[in-house]
Order: sequence, then C-alpha cells, then structure tokens
Amino acid sequence: MAVETVASAVSASTDFGPAVALSCRECGERFPLGPIFACEACFGPLEVAYEFPSGDPEGLRRRIEAGPTSIWRYAPLLPVPADVAAKPNLNPGFTKLVKADRLARELGVTGGLHVKDDSGNPTHSFKDRVVAIAVEAARNFGLTTLSCSSTGNLAGAVGAAAVRAGFRSCVFIPHDLEAGKVVMAAVYGGELVGIEGTYDDVNRFCSELIGDPIGEGWGFTNVNLRPYYGEGSKTLAYEICEQLGWRLPDNIVIPIASGSQLTKIDKGLQELVKLGLVEDKPYRIYGAQAEGCSPVSTAFKAGHDVVRPQKPNTIAKSLAIGNPADGPYVLDIARRTGGAVEDVNDEQIVDAIKLLARTEGIFAETAGGVTIGVLRKLIETGQLDPADETVAINTGDGLKTLDAVAPTTGPTAIIRPTLDSFREAGLA
Ligand SMILES: *Cc1c(COP(=O)(O)O)cnc(C)c1O
Ligand SMILES: [Zn+2]
Repeated sequence: MAVETVASAVSASTDFGPAVALSCRECGERFPLGPIFACEACFGPLEVAYEFPSGDPEGLRRRIEAGPTSIWRYAPLLPVPADVAAKPNLNPGFTKLVKADRLARELGVTGGLHVKDDSGNPTHSFKDRVVAIAVEAARNFGLTTLSCSSTGNLAGAVGAAAVRAGFRSCVFIPHDLEAGKVVMAAVYGGELVGIEGTYDDVNRFCSELIGDPIGEGWGFTNVNLRPYYGEGSKTLAYEICEQLGWRLPDNIVIPIASGSQLTKIDKGLQELVKLGLVEDKPYRIYGAQAEGCSPVSTAFKAGHDVVRPQKPNTIAKSLAIGNPADGPYVLDIARRTGGAVEDVNDEQIVDAIKLLARTEGIFAETAGGVTIGVLRKLIETGQLDPADETVAINTGDGLKTLDAVAPTTGPTAIIRPTLDSFREAGLA
C-alpha cells in the first residue's frame, strides 16, 4: 500500500517517453505508470503499454541507426525519456552478433547460426540491459535505494549501475553463489546480503521487505520495478534484427530463469513487425533450462499449462529459479510460435561451454552452456530445423563461473623450460 501511495504522488511529473500506462497481462486493466507490479483487480503481472508514433518506419529506422551504440539507440521504443543517453549510466547493449560458422558446422546447422554475445556488457551479463531501464524508472519515481533478489548477475549489475547513477544499493543473493558472482556483486561497494536459502526464498523475502515500511523509497529492479526492468530485454530482439539487416531470424534460443527475457524478446519482435521495421514472417522461440532446474521444460513436455515449482540443483545457478514468474507465458510463446522448451544436464552444460569456446572463441558462463547445449539437443532430437537461420543468446561471461570448467580444463603439459622437455611432452 505504501508503494502505491508513492506511485500516485509522483506519476504526474515523470517522463517515460512513449510509455503511457501499465496494463495487466491477465485482464487488461490499466494503471498509471508507477512502482507497482501486480494488478489490483486480479493480481496478474503488469507490463508497460505504449503509444508509438506510427506511419514512418524509414524515419524511425534512420533515427535508430544514427543513435548511440548502446540500448539507448532504441529509446523511442522504451519507457525512458528521450535524453536518457545523456544521464550517467553504464550504456549497456549493442553487443556483438557473432556469425558462428565453425559451431554451425559442428552442429550440422546449414541455414546460418549466430551467437548474440551479451557477455560483452559492462558487468558481463545481459542483466545490464534490464537494470538500465529499471534505474530510469527509479529516477522517475524519486526512489533512493536500488535493490534486487538475484541469482548472481543481477546483483552485480545493480551494484555497478547504482554507483554510476548515484543511488544507494542493497542487494540480496542466496549465500552459496559462485565466488565470481559474489565478488562482482560486492566490489562496487553497495550493501550485499547473502540469505540462507534458495533464490525463491530470497525473492519471497524481498516481497516482504517491499510491503514493510523499511522498503519505502526502495526500487527492487525485478520486483516493484519489474514491468520496466522487463522492457530492457526487448533490446535483445531489436539488436538481433538490426544486426541481421533489419529482418527476423527463423529461430531464437533463449535461456530461462524467471522467463522474463524470453517473453520480452517475443514482445520486441512483435513491436518491430507492427512498426514496419522488419517484414513479418513466422519465427520460433525456443527456451533453454538446466535439467536440475527445469520447471518450464517439464511442463512443456508434459503438455501442461501450469508450471510446478522445483527445488533447484544445477551448476547453472544464474538460471536456478524453481518458481519462475513468467513460466506460463513462456509456455504460451513456445507453443504459439512452434518452438519448444528443452533442458540439458550439468555434464552437457560443461561440454557445451567448451564447444562454444573451441569453435568460436567465446567463453560463456553456465547459462550460455545451457543455451548451446539445448540448441545441440534440439537439433539432435529433430525439434529445430538445421536448415533454418538460428540465433542463440549467450547471456553471461565464463569468468564468473570458472568452477564449472576448472576440474576438466588445464594446461596440456607442465614442462621444464627446455626444448628437450617440450619434445618429451610430445608437443613438438
Ligand atoms: C538472469 C539471467 C538470465 C535470464 O533471466 P530471466 O529471469 O529468464 O529473464 C539468463 N542468463 C543469465 C546469465 C542471467 O543472469
Ligand atoms: Zn488484472
């Protein structure tokens, strides 16, 4: 309730660019733009609704192409003010779309394969995109503390963005994350709290904090700012299509934690079609999970509409959300587009990390291993046509999850510094 009071008090003086309201994904009820995330009528999740200027796709395309080489080139399609790029921020996005010919040969893909490499973002994961939009919302609402419940990457992204934008930060993670994630979350100097429990416990705790007077003035990027946060993932769709020469690929393979990224990439693709920026054609959305945390792929394979929560046990900790908020929407999108949701086990994840590294020179974190591993499995099981053009998203950097590959990776040989010793090792 406290949160909604803040919303109505400040929403009049805010600048959200083309965004006009929040609308309920379940019942369609509309609300003024504010730091709220659930529908008052039905408790459904809220999302940002827009009024885009229409009628001049060429002009819009030229304006985007002349913009900064960051997500802000798409400011006309995001809930942000037009001068957003001038504000202090990390300028994430416009990461490389790598034409992955060697990986394609290895997997038998003949229709073209690209890896969208989001490890190139400022804090080395795709989370910088979503946080950047949430920060603008926090500025608009006059919030002072940035926070989140995180599986690791989000905590680092919030910590860094808060410093640059001048917010206090206090972020929450499960206490047993990888060292690389903990260091990345702590090094920017904000408060970092490890919670004894799973991500789902952390998330529940944060929901309680928001409802408490302690949480007044707090912007939880993925809770009360979630509608804005989610919009950041649309920029992956925009960039992929622009980098392909303003056209849709046939397939996109996307990792799933809460499912937000996948659902918003679909939203972004549809917007591009509606605005006339790309030609309409069918595309398929594929979701990727780790077997040890596969609530969505399990529901997909069983033909269920309901996602049953799981207790995660996987090396892909950034994807370890046992009760994914957007799970049912992911199922809808995979089914509507003719895609699928698959999962791979820990060994297949490690193999896929190494496969991507040795074919394309891209070192992915475990989530990237999930995506490439699932791509391989989708092809092997006939669920994805290798004659199609496919884009797979690498959402994070392997340096953050060294422990996953360290046990099976190391020097080819250790020798004395002599030519004889090198010859003896059989490497000459
Ligand atoms: C957060 C995250 C995702 C996807 O998260 P969603 O909650 O599904 O949007 C994917 N990869 C990495 C590395 C992440 O940190
Ligand atoms: Zn509703």
